[in-house]
Amino acid sequence: MLKGKTALVTGSTSGIGLGIATALAQQGANIMLNGFGDHEGPKAQIAALGVQVDYHGADMSKPEQIEDMMKKAAERFGRVDILVNNAGIQHVAKVEDFPPERWDAIIAINLTSAFHTTRLAIPAMRAANWGRVINIASAHGLVASAQKSAYVAAKHGIVGLTKAVALETATTGVTCNAICPGWVLTPLVQKQIDDRSAREGIPVSQAQNELLGEKQPSLQFTTVEQLGGLAVFLSSPAADQVRGVAWQVDGGWTAQ
Ligand code: NAD
Repeated sequence: MLKGKTALVTGSTSGIGLGIATALAQQGANIMLNGFGDHEGPKAQIAALGVQVDYHGADMSKPEQIEDMMKKAAERFGRVDILVNNAGIQHVAKVEDFPPERWDAIIAINLTSAFHTTRLAIPAMRAANWGRVINIASAHGLVASAQKSAYVAAKHGIVGLTKAVALETATTGVTCNAICPGWVLTPLVQKQIDDRSAREGIPVSQAQNELLGEKQPSLQFTTVEQLGGLAVFLSSPAADQVRGVAWQVDGGWTAQ
């Protein structure tokens, strides 16, 4: 379905980003990977699906590196057709204890980076009259939790950015939508489970059950495959008039 298209997925060396890159590659899209840590493994995993794949190590808190990544992606693949803004970090602390540099990093990586990638991707999408911007927000883009002020602010912000870009592109073949996952068992969440287990002196399995029980009525993690499936749908012709949504995949978290 996506043969001949190119998807750039930020933060795709791990977790949700890698899951979405894999799902888009399974539909034939060429992939530009980004993120920290090992990238040779993810690159080989995507290449095995028979599509072209490249990697750029831009730090998403650095606008000039984002510009270089977007330029290299256009040089390598002609254009970015599907932009998935996924890179994100977390820090948990009360607002009065929140380190200002952690606040700045979360806003830069989880929100401002999407402004930069989007502003740089939209002109070529408009010229082609086709494009998809998919922002990975969170249940925390719709409701808050204590101790996550920066993350909640950034995720609410990206839901707002999604709506504004959807309106600006509404008469074109370019759409912009957000996906709002609940708990997904990735390294980002495993750290929160491990911290809770250590803090409360409880087994990791109990910490995991408590985490789910507090927020996610299904008591099951959302999977990266489910999120990949939604990204594929949002990239399909059936989603041509899906514009500016913030779509929960959260086991009922925000229905409460
Ligand atoms: P993860 O830690 O597994 O992956 C994060 C990715 O972002 C990695 O590839 C990492 O290298 C990359 N990254 C981090 N900082 C970066 C930077 N400065 N520049 C470039 N890349 C950077 O986390 P995840 O759980 O897969 O999270 C992905 C996205 O999904 C985030 O935006 C997160 O907020 C969101 N999300 C996650 C959950 C969850 O339960 N895991 C729920 C809702 C939303």
